[in-house]
Order: sequence, then structure tokens, then C-alpha cells
Amino acid sequence: MKRDVKRENQLNISRRDFLKTSALIGTAGAITLSGCQPKNSMTSAQGTDVGTGNYPSDKKWDFENPPQSIPANKIIETLQADVVVLGAGLAGVCAAMAAAEKGAKVIVLEKREVSTFHGGWCGVVGSRRQKELGIDIDADEVIADMMRWGAYMPDQRLLKLWADESGRVMDRLLDMADAEGIETIPEPDLKQSWLYKEYDISLRFLPAWNATLVPLIEKNAKAAGAEFLYETPAVQLLREEENGRVVGVIAENLDGYLRIDAKAVIICTGGYENNPEMLAKYAPRALHAASSWYSEGSTTGDGIKMGMWVGGAMQAGGYCPMLFDGGIPGFPLPIGLARQPWLNVNTLGKRYVNEDAPFGYTCNQDINQPGHMKWSVWDAKWEDEVELMHGTVCERLVPPLWSADVLDQSLKAGFIVQADTLEELATIMEVPLDTFLQTVQRYNELAKSGKDLDFGKNSEMLTTIEQAPFFATKSGAALVVTLDGLQIDTNMQVLGTEGKQIPGLYAAGNASGNFFANDYPITAIGVSHGRALTFGWLAGENAVQNLA
Ligand SMILES: Cc1cc2nc3c(=O)[nH]c(=O)nc-3n(C[C@H](O)[C@H](O)[C@H](O)COP(=O)(O)OP(=O)(O)OC[C@H]3O[C@@H](n4cnc5c(N)ncnc54)[C@H](O)[C@@H]3O)c2cc1C
Repeated sequence: MKRDVKRENQLNISRRDFLKTSALIGTAGAITLSGCQPKNSMTSAQGTDVGTGNYPSDKKWDFENPPQSIPANKIIETLQADVVVLGAGLAGVCAAMAAAEKGAKVIVLEKREVSTFHGGWCGVVGSRRQKELGIDIDADEVIADMMRWGAYMPDQRLLKLWADESGRVMDRLLDMADAEGIETIPEPDLKQSWLYKEYDISLRFLPAWNATLVPLIEKNAKAAGAEFLYETPAVQLLREEENGRVVGVIAENLDGYLRIDAKAVIICTGGYENNPEMLAKYAPRALHAASSWYSEGSTTGDGIKMGMWVGGAMQAGGYCPMLFDGGIPGFPLPIGLARQPWLNVNTLGKRYVNEDAPFGYTCNQDINQPGHMKWSVWDAKWEDEVELMHGTVCERLVPPLWSADVLDQSLKAGFIVQADTLEELATIMEVPLDTFLQTVQRYNELAKSGKDLDFGKNSEMLTTIEQAPFFATKSGAALVVTLDGLQIDTNMQVLGTEGKQIPGLYAAGNASGNFFANDYPITAIGVSHGRALTFGWLAGENAVQNLA
């Protein structure tokens, strides 16, 4: 029977609970899962966590308690590897490829039956493709902006490392792409407004973006000798008691537990966007999102937890959910038309912010509104006006994110509502009629005067709401991924609470921390993929270099 990861998560059956109810006791040989107590929160004088500020510092969350070790007699098979990679997302396939091409015996454990890929913008600096196109990026400026975006909480050494190494790693991916005639394109249309700018750092692989890229790397990693075990989630790390070295991992497949002895373990299991308890601790703001876009459901913070159970430290604060606007309950994807910076009103019918902000900022404002939702409102002139809107990156109405029939389908499904009068629209929206009409009247006055005296939106985006039919969509924030994880150094080695390396343990991608804080810096387009591919690759290289 196929494993239904998503269903398991919906039922909230955690691996820890499973282990508990299985009443497993004992250890796997002389090597144990550490029962250390992670101290992973910065605590203020008031005793509240600095990161989220809303729970007592001594609260112990269930996920922080290490499970009992799995007894040796439950292990059905033992495998040997130089390097074990946990997770076959972008970071994991890069780690596997880099380690395998250096001659290491690599095993990749993946929870799902296939590898995982999303989106396509990959942010890198100085690749040969960018040089060919004459794209010259001022890395210091990008880093400075990312530091500001993260309120100076990211580790600048990691940002510098990404800027220095991402071009080299991208060149290796381009080698693989060139060998198969796969083309790459930069972002054709960058936003340069007074509020923020988009840096020209992203490349996309054609035709299917990361659905092209990740299988391409996976295929090359297999050709280089890496072995992929699907539907085989890692469940516990193995650590030598005397020196604290991580020496392998226990995984589980449909037949039982496997033990893989290894000289290095690289955690690439992604974030905790599908783990409500971890969200409640680290990113409670994200629990107000109206929808979640990591639909596979397999990223439940497993690697972060496993790392913490052997003494790894979680990022100390500035926890960083990637939140987008346009989250529609019951609808798994964004509706591009509804994400344009049209007039936004809250459920009280009032305008509350400059709608033309990067979407991470917009959705923070949306979360702050009553019910954490807003209405976007536009009118019959939208086809002429939409060119002026110039939304951020994936807000733009370009295929495959947008096609003409999306409006019809969304209207039929009720995700966009339509009316011939503003009064009728207000009734459908269930907002107070008088307030809504006053808001529209004021907005139209501002639009006609060409100056947004209330919130300072760029004048070309001030478009009137006066021609029937009128349209509206109700949306909130969408949780995409989480971007904070285990603390790492510039070798990609996981650090303990005292800032010391845990020998044999590496992390990359969304399972690793200290690169992002507070908000995803969409100003550096695709830098989430840029981090995953660069640091995954470096983790693979470093793990091989340090093999005992
Ligand atoms: C819809 C969508 C669109 C996006 N678009 C973009 C974009 O265009 N540009 C950008 O920069 N970012 C984008 N992102 C974010 C980006 O995809 C991620 O931040 C990035 O891919 C993270 O890579 P990763 O390898 O660390 O994690 P993931 O890609 O999440 O991979 C983690 C892997 O680990 C596996 N796993 C989990 N637990 C275990 C376990 N116990 N054992 C074994 N395997 C396990 C998972 O099944 C998964 O395969 C997007 C995200 C989404 C959801």
C-alpha cells in the first residue's frame, strides 16, 4: 500500500506519537539518539521568547522532546554510506550530486514517492549565463538590502557565501542543462519603485522551471552513483555518545526500520510549514494564513527536530515564514488578477494601506485586519489597467500563472464575485454598505486627482472603480514555506547551543537557519531556491572533504 504522507499529516499522527504508542525501548547498538535538552530560544528578562514574544520561556513543546531510541531488534536492514542526504528537494538533490561526483557513496532518503519541486525563480550571482547576458549584479547592494529586510538578524557571512558561490554552483547546473538543450531565462520585467526594487539575480529553467531543474539534477546524481530510497523517511539520527559525532540515521520504509551507517549526514528535509505545533512556537503569525501552498504536506520539520534532538540549535529569533498575498481558502493556487494592487478594503469596508507593496509586506497588513482577510476590488476597465499595476514577480499576469480563462473559472467557482452596481457588490461582499461606498468615492477622488493623499500609492496604480461590472475577491495570506531552521556555519555544519559544530552533521535549504529573518526578501528574486541549491551543493562538497 502506498504511503499517504499528506493524509498522515492531516490526521496529525506525528512520528513521535507513533513511536510512543509502539512502546519501543532500548538503543540501536552502542549508538544512541541523544536525549539532550535543546535550549533553542533566546529568553528576555521578562521570560518571554524574543522571537515570538507570546509564550513563557520554560514551555516545553511536544516536538522538542526526543523520542525513545529504536531498538536494534526492530532494524530489518543495515546499509553503509559515506554520506546520507535526508530529503530530495532542491537542496537535497544538489547535496547528493555534489557528494556523488566527488566519489562518495551517497544514499538519499526521501519521504515521498518522488522528489519535490516548486516554482522556478532561482536567485544567483555571477553565473556564466548572467555574464553572457551582460547582467552585472552588485552583490554588496543585494546583501545590504537582504540584511535590512531581515532587520539585521541574518548571518551576513552566510549571505556573502551565497553571493560568492551561487554563480559557480549555477554553472554546474547549467552544464547539466546545456547537455540536454535546456534553456534558461532571466526575469524579463524588474520592478523599480521608490518603495523597493527587484534585483536581476533570477534564472528559470525552461520549459517547466523547477519541475525541469530538480529531476535534471536528480538524474545526474543517480548517474554519478547516488542511490535514492523513496517513501523512506528518516526518523532519528545516530550519534556516538563519547564524542557526539553523528554516525548515521534510522529510516523507515513500508517493511520496517533501516539503519544507515554513514560518515556524514546532510539534513535537507525542508521547513515546518506543515507542522502546526512548530508554527505555533516559531511563526504563530503564519497560523492566520488563509491557505497553504505546500500542498504535498511532507515537510513537517522532521530534520529540524532530529537535529535538535542531538543537540542542534534552532535559529535564535526572527523566525521567517514565507507569506504571500492572495491566499484563498479552499483554493490551492493564487488568482493572479486578485493579487494586483487594486483598491483593498477590509471586511469593515475600509481601506487600510498602500496596496502596492512587496507581497510579504502586503500580507502582514492583511493578517492584521479583522478576520485576517481583505477584499480586492476592481472594475470593467481591468484589461487596460492591469499593465500599469506591475505586481511583484509571480503577481504578474504571465503564463502559466495566468491565462484568459482563469477569470471565467474563478467566477464560476465563486472565488471572484461580480456585480452590476457597487451596492450589489457590497451586499455580496457582506461589508457595511455606507462605509464601502464612502471608501470607493474617496478612492475615486484620489485617482482622479492623481495623488494618493491617504497612503502614497504610485499614481499610475490609482485606477477608478466606476465602470460596471465590478469585481471583488476575498483573500488573506498564503503560507508558502518556512525559511528558518538549524543554525549552521559557513561549512554548512550544524551548530549546537554553544555555537560548536556537531561533528558529521550538516544542513542546507529550509531545514537550515540564520539566512533569512522576519520576512522573505522578495527584492532578491528566487533567493530561497538560490540558497537551497548553493548550500545544498556546498554541504555535499564539504561533507566529502571532511570524511573521516
Ligand atoms: C508553490 C511554491 C512555489 C515556490 N516558488 C519559489 C520560487 O519560484 N523561487 C524560490 O526561490 N522559492 C520558491 N518557493 C520556495 C522554495 O521552493 C523552497 O524554499 C525551497 O525549494 C526549499 O528547498 P529544500 O530542498 O530546502 O526543501 P523542500 O523543497 O521542501 O524539500 C524537502 C524534501 O524533504 C522531504 N522530507 C521531509 N521530511 C523528510 C524525512 N523525514 N525524511 C526524508 N525526506 C523528508 C520532503 O518530502 C521534500 O522532498 C516556492 C514554494 C512553493 C511551495
